[in-house]
Amino acid sequence: MFLELESVFNTPGLELPFAYALPEQPAELEGAGLPLAERPLVEGILRNRAGVVELHGTARVALAAACDRCAAPIAPVLLIPLEHTLVLSLNDAANDALILVEQYRYSPDALVWEDVVLAMPPKLLCRPDCLGLCSVCGQNRNEGICACANQGDPRMAALRQLLAD
Ligand SMILES: [Zn+2]
Ligand SMILES: [Zn+2]
Repeated sequence: MFLELESVFNTPGLELPFAYALPEQPAELEGAGLPLAERPLVEGILRNRAGVVELHGTARVALAAACDRCAAPIAPVLLIPLEHTLVLSLNDAANDALILVEQYRYSPDALVWEDVVLAMPPKLLCRPDCLGLCSVCGQNRNEGICACANQGDPRMAALRQLLAD
C-alpha cells in the first residue's frame, strides 16, 4: 500500500487517516512464515506537526498457531502500536527515531512488518500458566496429572520439567 504524503507534508495541521490489509511478506523477508489467520489490518493517522509527519496507528495481527508447550490450537490477536515520525531529510543521520521518506509516495509495509516482528512474544502459549505435556508419556498436563508425576526422584521430575520448557 502506498500513502500519498505530498499534501500532508505541505499542509500544516493536516490529518490523514488510513486503513489497509498488510500484504504478506515474501519468503526471504523478516516476518515471513508467521502463522497468520488473515492479513494484518493496519489502521492509523498521519499528522503534519511542524514540518514532519507523525504516523500513529495499530496493526491487528490475528494468528492461528499451536501452543509452544502443549500444542493446543490457539488464535491470539495482537494489537501492535505503530508510532513513527516521517521526515523528508535528515539533519542528523544518527537519529534512528526518524524515518526518512525519499518520495512523497511511500509504502509503510516494511516499517509495519518490522514493528510486528519486534512485538512478537518469544513463546505463544494457550495461557500464561500452561503446564505443557508430560515429558515421559506425553499427557497434556492441563487436562490432568498422569501417573509419571508420582514416580521416580522428585528432583529428577523438576529437572525433566526444566528440560521440557
Ligand atoms: Zn498450552
Ligand atoms: Zn506422564
